[in-house]
Parts: sequence; structure tokens; C-alpha cells
Amino acid sequence: MALYGAAAAVLSGLEARRGSLKTLVYGSRFQNVRQLYALVCETQRYSEVLEAVIGSAGLLEAERKLPPPLAKVLVYELLLGRGLRGGRWKPVLARHQARLRAELARLKVRRRVSRNEDLLGPRPGAAPLPRFVRVNTLRSRLEDAVDYLKREGYGYQGRASGLEELRALRGKRFCLDPLLPELLVFPPGTDLHQHPLHRAGHLILQDKVSCLPAMLLAPPPGAHVIDACAAPGNKTSQLAALLGNRGKIFAFDLDAGRLATMATLLTRAGVSCCELANEDFLSVSPSDPRYRQVQYILLDPSCSGSGMASRSLEEPGESGPDPERLRALAGFQRRALAHALSFPALRRLVYSTCSICQEENEDVVRDVLQQQERGAFRLAHALPLWPERGLGTFPGAERCIRASPEATLTGGFFVAVLERGDETSSDPEPQAQAGEPLPNVPPKKKKRRRQKPSTP
Ligand code: SAM
Repeated sequence: MALYGAAAAVLSGLEARRGSLKTLVYGSRFQNVRQLYALVCETQRYSEVLEAVIGSAGLLEAERKLPPPLAKVLVYELLLGRGLRGGRWKPVLARHQARLRAELARLKVRRRVSRNEDLLGPRPGAAPLPRFVRVNTLRSRLEDAVDYLKREGYGYQGRASGLEELRALRGKRFCLDPLLPELLVFPPGTDLHQHPLHRAGHLILQDKVSCLPAMLLAPPPGAHVIDACAAPGNKTSQLAALLGNRGKIFAFDLDAGRLATMATLLTRAGVSCCELANEDFLSVSPSDPRYRQVQYILLDPSCSGSGMASRSLEEPGESGPDPERLRALAGFQRRALAHALSFPALRRLVYSTCSICQEENEDVVRDVLQQQERGAFRLAHALPLWPERGLGTFPGAERCIRASPEATLTGGFFVAVLERGDETSSDPEPQAQAGEPLPNVPPKKKKRRRQKPSTP
């Protein structure tokens, strides 16, 4: 298939320093530039993993006519991508498929990870980050989950007083996050993917920053909420936990495959108040009577993902994602935010991205607020005690939250809370003190149906 050859040629060009990624991709004359760009980026991202697998499977020794860059592209597609879709090398790779898969599995066992993404590891030189685990209060009380883990031999340190305590976590120990009410923190590298409490939906493996949007939206039980770009649904299940499954979540996503995964995740998490729709959020009508009670919207749109610790930069020497892609993403983010603000009953909206690019964060929020009728919506001061704030690119940007491995021990992230101008409360939550559970989270002992974690 021409795509694989073109991708291999770009990789060779990069290795020989014949030009930048963009120059080589555009110079390739391959028609579908986006497809080629994506394949090269992903192959590069997994380069070290692919070399290890190809090396231990002895692929290049067995197939001497297979050029190494092409081998990388083909093995990426075969093991980590969408599967080989044709071309003369397909039957050749098929002969080695079982061995290559076995080598990938062995590599994961050696590195003690269960997902392909976890093979990527943190950026070189970065300190490893703690693992955050949210207790799903639809399935389990916090105390029950903690007791279960203690019975398994984990040492529990109680609620941490600050980030230093999280930094110092080692071995089989865990604590509660200083700020978030139901968030457990484990030392870097702890892998709970196969843990029975995770498999049964009692624990959700979710980075701390990814728990902020739903927490700051804080819909009360009974509320109607839209989750505009919802899949794979970790934030949706957290919203359902805040609602105690009372009220309604309308969750939209364009990607049917991701929605299918989400449906499984939500069932496992015990979510029963959510309607999933495979729809473009931009075409959801704000005047549809079904949404007339929607007062809360969570908008977590597609973004460059430049804040995710496991993503290496797309090209050595480049300081961020491709500008053209960034422009396209920011265009969509602006349209989605403006559209969300047009829902008539909306009171509060949380906008979030796992991007560290100003173009997708402060710029989007500033532009959309400027387009609003004066004073219609304003930025609420989100979590005043949070240490890293929005870049001061416009007055009020410091009301937004930023996150980074260095300042908050998390992935890079951005959150803005927008409230309708006539709202009486100025903050989505009273000033939370470190060590105090946050208000607006349903109190623990109220009548919410919870199941005890069952002994597996
Ligand atoms: N909120 C999700 C979570 O916490 O699990 C992650 C959302 S992810 C950052 C962005 C999602 O937006 C993707 O699943 C993508 O398919 C979806 N998306 C992109 N454009 C969309 C659109 N126009 N309407 C609805 N969903 C869209």
C-alpha cells in the first residue's frame, strides 16, 4: 500500500535529517496528508518499543529485503494501529505475526504494564508521577474500598497534607489526595488494571486533573447535564456519581467505537442515568425540548493532547503540535464552546482540555467570552487554592486552572469554569482548603445506593 511506503520514506528522511516532519510529509506527494502525518507520528512515538519488538522477533534477519523504516511502519500498523490493510508485505508480516505479538506481550510483562500506551513511559528526564485512582461512589463507599486495600496488605496513610507527601509515596502504600474527596494516590508505576475492584467498577483509574472538570461542574442530584464530547466516559461516570444516578446525563460523541467502549465502562460503573448518542454535538439543537432543563454542560473536546505525560513531542526540536492541526482543533473548540453556551437554561459550564497550548485554552475561552452578549457568561474563580493558574493573556485568565507534572504532579491540563452572569455564587465551590473534602460533592452517608466491594 502506498501509504506504508510513503510513511517509511518520511521516517528515513527524518533519520537522515533531510527536512522537518512537515516538509517531508507535504513533499511526499501522498494525497492524504493527514493520514500520512498521523501514521508517521504514531510510528515515531512508539519507535523505541517497535525497535525492541522487531529486534527480539528477529524480523530483519529473517526478511533481509525489508528496509528497517518500513518494518517499523508495518509492525506499528499490525500490532498497535489499525491492522495491515494490504500491500505486498502483508503476507510476509502475516508469517511473523504470532512471534511479533508474543514479543510485544513479553515486553509488557517485563515492564509490568498492561496497556500499549504505558509502554511509552514518561518524557525523558521527567519525574515519575503518582497513580491516581477514583473511588466510584456508585459502587463503593470510600471507607470500604480503603478497607479492602488494607486487607490486601496496602499501607494506608490517610489524607495527605500536601504534594510533598504524594511525591514521597513508595512501595505498597497509598493515601487520599489532599484536595479531591474520593481520590486515592499510589506510588508511580502502581498498576491496578487487573485489580478486582477496578474490574468490578469500584475503582476508576483516572488522573487527578481529569477528575477536576466534573467536580467543578458539581451538578446537584436530580440535575440535567450534557456531556458534549463524552467518550470513553470517565468524566461521565464521575458526573453520574455526583448525581447519585438521580437526574439525567445526555452524553454525545462522534466516534461510535469509543461510545461502545463507553457503554461497557458505564455499565461496569453502575451508571443508570445516562443517555448515549452517537451525534455531532454541534448539530444538537439547544431549542430541543429534551434539553430545556439542562443547566450544566461539560465540554471536554478533542484536543492536541500535548499535556499528556506519555506523549512525546511529535518531532525532535519542535515545541508543540503542528500549527495547522492546532488551528483546526481550536476552531472546533471555539464552535463547540459557543454552541454549548447557547443552551437556554445553562447555568454553569466547564471547558477542559489535556492540552498545554494557549491556542486551545486561554485563547478559546477569551474569544468565545468576547463574542457573548456583555456579561452573559463570566469566568468563575476555579479552586482558588490550586497552585497553577491560566496564563495571564487576558484579564481574568488566572481564574482558570492549569496543571503540569512539575507543579501539580499530574499530566498537563486546562480547566475553565463559566457561569451565567446572573448566578449569585461567584465560585463553583467555596474555597476548599487542602485536607478538607470539597462541598457540592454529595455527602457520604446520604441515601445513595452503594454496593460493598464484593470479595472476588
Ligand atoms: N470526556 C472524555 C472522557 O473523560 O472520557 C474524553 C473526551 S476526548 C478528549 C474528546 C472526544 O470528543 C472524543 O471521543 C471524540 O470522538 C469526541 N468528539 C470530537 N468531535 C466531536 C463532535 N463534534 N461531537 C461530539 N463528540 C466529538
